[in-house]
Amino acid sequence: MPSTLATPVRMNGNGHTHTPMDVEKIFGQNTFGLSEMKARLPKSVYKHLVATIQDGEPINVEVADAIALAMKEWAVEHGATHYTHWFQPLTGRTAEKHDTFITPNEGGGAVAEFSGKNLFQGEPDASSFPSGGLRATFEARGYTAYDPTSPAFIIKHNNVATLCIPTAFASWTGEALDHKIPLLRSMEALNKQARRALDLFGESVSRVYATCGSEQEYFLIDERFFLARPDLLVTGRTLLGAKPPRGQELDDHYFGTIPERVMAFMNAVEEELYHLGVPVATRHNEVAPGQYEFAPIFENANVAADHQQLMMMTLQRTAPRFGLVCLLHEKPFAGINGSGKHCNWSMSTNTGMNLLEPGETPHENLLFLFFCTAVIQAVHRHQGLLRATIATAANDHRLGANEAPPAILSIFLGEQLTDVFEQIAASGKASSSKQSGFLGLGTPVLPRLPRHASDRNRTSPFAFTGNKFEFRGVGSSQSVSLPLTVLNTIAAEAIDDLATKLEAKLGKKKRSKQALEDAVHDVIADAIRAHKAIIFNGDNYTQAWNEEAEKRGLLNLKSTPDALPQLTVDTTVEAFAAYEVLSEAELEGREEILTEQYVMTVNIEAATTENMAQTMVLPAAVRYLSELIDTAARGSDLGLTFGGTMETAKEVSALVDDLKGAIGRLAKARMAAHGAKNEARAMKDNVIPAMASVREVCDALEGIVSADLWPLPTYREMLFIK
Ligand code: ADP
Ligand code: MG
Repeated sequence: MPSTLATPVRMNGNGHTHTPMDVEKIFGQNTFGLSEMKARLPKSVYKHLVATIQDGEPINVEVADAIALAMKEWAVEHGATHYTHWFQPLTGRTAEKHDTFITPNEGGGAVAEFSGKNLFQGEPDASSFPSGGLRATFEARGYTAYDPTSPAFIIKHNNVATLCIPTAFASWTGEALDHKIPLLRSMEALNKQARRALDLFGESVSRVYATCGSEQEYFLIDERFFLARPDLLVTGRTLLGAKPPRGQELDDHYFGTIPERVMAFMNAVEEELYHLGVPVATRHNEVAPGQYEFAPIFENANVAADHQQLMMMTLQRTAPRFGLVCLLHEKPFAGINGSGKHCNWSMSTNTGMNLLEPGETPHENLLFLFFCTAVIQAVHRHQGLLRATIATAANDHRLGANEAPPAILSIFLGEQLTDVFEQIAASGKASSSKQSGFLGLGTPVLPRLPRHASDRNRTSPFAFTGNKFEFRGVGSSQSVSLPLTVLNTIAAEAIDDLATKLEAKLGKKKRSKQALEDAVHDVIADAIRAHKAIIFNGDNYTQAWNEEAEKRGLLNLKSTPDALPQLTVDTTVEAFAAYEVLSEAELEGREEILTEQYVMTVNIEAATTENMAQTMVLPAAVRYLSELIDTAARGSDLGLTFGGTMETAKEVSALVDDLKGAIGRLAKARMAAHGAKNEARAMKDNVIPAMASVREVCDALEGIVSADLWPLPTYREMLFIK
């Protein structure tokens, strides 16, 4: 790289002029939340809306005009001139089409108008969004529908402010073309079944909802390096690039001091997200150099999914203000840890009870044991489906690569809970919970720390972490909606099943405390005996676990083409039909779209690899070769032997031959894949290995060719210049 590009941007100022952010004041300022609604809506309309938001009551069209009017007035006061129905098509990203509030009036002027109909229903031309065969392009109609349960918000860029209304997106025959509709349907299914089970425990609540807090990992690199790398620009990851002499071996970046420019960036992101009511809570350096993380406080899963999209959008939009680019790709750099999005999930009642809170003595907590068992059963039964929800071309680089969980789904419960469940499975009841007491630090000045009953396990794909499960395989650039939808649906199914068994055991007899306890223990014992194969507390990164998992009959779906068919296997179709979350056609549509995305991603990567190898790497190598040969030729009069020069020339020449051959084979594999019966498989089996061969030669050349001729920013520059 030319050396000018290697100079990092320095921020102006001495860093001492500090205006603290007033979080309480700005939090939610750009959202049309409950307090804004209360202040602006007629009392009856407000009450109606709260019943919908908090208790899932149906929303009545008659309130539409009043809400629209209040929302428009609020938005206009914030400088908004346009509004958009903000939705989540199956691309996994968000979509928006802006409409103006302004309507010309008879006097030649204009007024701001926004009716209830504008609020409740939109009709974007939907023909270009993926539908997976659910809709032919000539039937382009698609509708967006207002989701009152997720607050509307205002996005400001420079001088433009736009009111964004979270909406669902469906075809005109009513099929879900987005990620929100199934998520909301799954929340409803979970609500119904969990409340039914809670009734059996004598706990009546008016609503149960899934909660989610998703930790977002990402990389930041200097914008100038990004712009000089066609692979990053086009595919979001480096397709070439030799490993730097120093990677993450020293573990010195993790939780290290946050670099100043990055801190300024994080602060700006937080400010933006606070305005949008997104409760970001923690920030830190991650394992790889140049890698960072943000995590929010958990929320209702539907709102959390919208907020997660806002988080990704804000990260990417804010970075250029600091001369940075935010990479959300799961594996931007080979040989360096990739990025994930731990999806923390639990179930909560409207009264604030977390159904996965074990308390100090979990063996006595029947309710917890019941719901936890349901999750164990659900994950065991639908392990393949869960795997499918995190299957993408990008995530394939992480899963099972000793930096992320393997492709095998299993549950980490920790020592204490495993022991309790083992007691129940063995004898039908549990009489103790292992306690771990306090941690003495060997000096009186440090406080005694209560020790958790279980250590953490960073290698587990699905870990119980105290009062929630953490689904760790989710990719950093993914929407959390599909994983959440699946978790809610399969949990609903398992709760339904266990509740039915519990009802049968309890019969009509009087439900004494003892009768309930016995019945719950019986039901749990059966379920654990049937599903304990999914529980694994050991190191998921070892070969031994791969073998053990196979013995246990657990699925090991290594790649996306292996995993996606799980979206339409019988167990999936049955569960999704039973709770009316997705029909078989809707599931098939999703499988088709995700497969298509896989094929397109690999194809674009392969084409970019070919192009960069041919037009950037090969010319650099040839120029260097020519320099070497010229030097040797010119200097021979002086009696120099040029042994080293000629040896280098031979090496370069041989690699150039290899490269040309590898490029040719890649082009051929790509062409052949297009005609293949199973395109995804051909991409996986032939194109990806051919890409790897091209890369191998390019990376070898990077280690030989003169640095000043090398046309691409190196890993060292991208990862270490902060
Ligand atoms: P850890 O460090 O063990 O992962 P944290 O307390 O940092 O735990 O939480 C990680 C994420 O989990 C945060 O986003 C947090 O809000 C979320 N979380 C905590 N409790 C719950 C819950 N009951 N449901 C869903 N997410 C939760
Ligand atoms: Mg975590």
